[in-house]
Amino acid sequence: MDMKELSGILRSCGIVGAGGAGFPTYAKLDARAKTIILNCAECEPLLKLHRQLLEKNAWDIMSAFQLIGDAVGADELVIGIKKAYKKTVEALDSYIQEFPKMRIGLLDEVYPAGDEVVLIYEVTGKVVRPGGLPIESGVAVFNVETVYNVFKAVNEGHPVTDKLISVVGEVEHPVTVRVPLGCTVDDVVALAGSVTTKDPVYVLGGPMMGNLASGSQPITKTTNAILVLPRAHTVVQKKCSKASIDLNRAAASCCQCTMCTDLCPRNLLGHPIEPHKFMLAATCKDVQKTEVFLDTMFCSSCGLCEMYSCTQSLSPRTLITEYKGGLRKAGVPVPKDVLPEPVGMERSYRKVPMERLMARLGLTKYNVSAPMDNHCVSMDCVRILLSQHIGAPAIAVVKAGDVVEKGHMIAKPANGLSVGIHASVDGRVRQVTDKFIIIDAVPDGGNLVAPAAEDDTERTKTV
Ligand code: SF4
Ligand code: SF4
Repeated sequence: MDMKELSGILRSCGIVGAGGAGFPTYAKLDARAKTIILNCAECEPLLKLHRQLLEKNAWDIMSAFQLIGDAVGADELVIGIKKAYKKTVEALDSYIQEFPKMRIGLLDEVYPAGDEVVLIYEVTGKVVRPGGLPIESGVAVFNVETVYNVFKAVNEGHPVTDKLISVVGEVEHPVTVRVPLGCTVDDVVALAGSVTTKDPVYVLGGPMMGNLASGSQPITKTTNAILVLPRAHTVVQKKCSKASIDLNRAAASCCQCTMCTDLCPRNLLGHPIEPHKFMLAATCKDVQKTEVFLDTMFCSSCGLCEMYSCTQSLSPRTLITEYKGGLRKAGVPVPKDVLPEPVGMERSYRKVPMERLMARLGLTKYNVSAPMDNHCVSMDCVRILLSQHIGAPAIAVVKAGDVVEKGHMIAKPANGLSVGIHASVDGRVRQVTDKFIIIDAVPDGGNLVAPAAEDDTERTKTV
């Protein structure tokens, strides 16, 4: 299959990065990609989704990864996976000889091994330039679930209608479940049995880079984990902090020990991000050193400086993110032509072990298995967002009262960078706005029958 054909399938099937910002996958297909990497680092503590999906569907995912490699003309395909995921590595080993251009790149159990820039260095030895894109170094990185979605799209014509999510933390039975897009966080948490803390708080996406969420928030194509924690937990308290208070605390207690910079994963790859200098300049309002502020754009927001490194429990990441956002709003461009310094010897002994990170954050007791069930759970009602990815929101092609079947396109890709959105349940459309579509599910199609049609936009019927 050539790149154009594959790109068309991925766009119409609504495939985006199944985690992070949700970059449309078709736009990642690029003939400059001489190396493609499958990211199975899964470096956020407690997440257990990718390793299980890859273990149970190793051949499917490897074959789809090969298909992508062939389409872009890659010379080398690397599966970046932690040594610690032994069963998954065994599953990969049993098929790897079928894919001569593919190899396994083993990673240490450290954070943030899954940061694209870190991963690329670990498995290829290349350093992406500060502020640059991996493709400039001839590399493209794909998420495990994204590639599984590519397999289903190409082999079964199956668009993205549901999402795998790990539910961990203060729940009776931690699980990894497949749920329809648009169901709520509360719906998914209920699948893990009862909540085992009195005042639970939800964190979506992992303790390091995830965000606080309400129970009514809809599941999107990028939701990969729900962490249930007590309100008083360290992780929750750090995520509740306010930048103005953080700045005052930094002014009072940053001792310039440089630990935040010494352990910064981007700094260790020679990128000019030095959080301790930023803390000093920000608290002293020293705007003469503009490069200290401009360099915040090279921060990956991995959170290591504030969740682990800082000896005073200060929040460099939060403050850097605040400044970075301000620069972006003001239209300040990311500095170009900044070259990385050579990677120093010290990097090898400054990696942060996952075990230490979890202990520091009080997460060790939640590090239990979250077994995966890959069959999609049914839900009564879904609220499907039209913007679940980077780029333009999809445009609704259904109206209230329409009958839809699971998998029918309910919103078409907009012009420019965009993908389609599909019904995640069989049912009747209740409401359509410019932000979302609500569908009431009808079990087994009920007596509402949508006619078969060639064109997705015609596969709905007003009743
Ligand atoms: S969040 Fe902190 S540790 Fe991570 S890249 Fe930014 S400055 Fe470095
Ligand atoms: S680790 Fe904390 S105290 Fe030390 S320089 Fe960084 S922000 Fe300041």
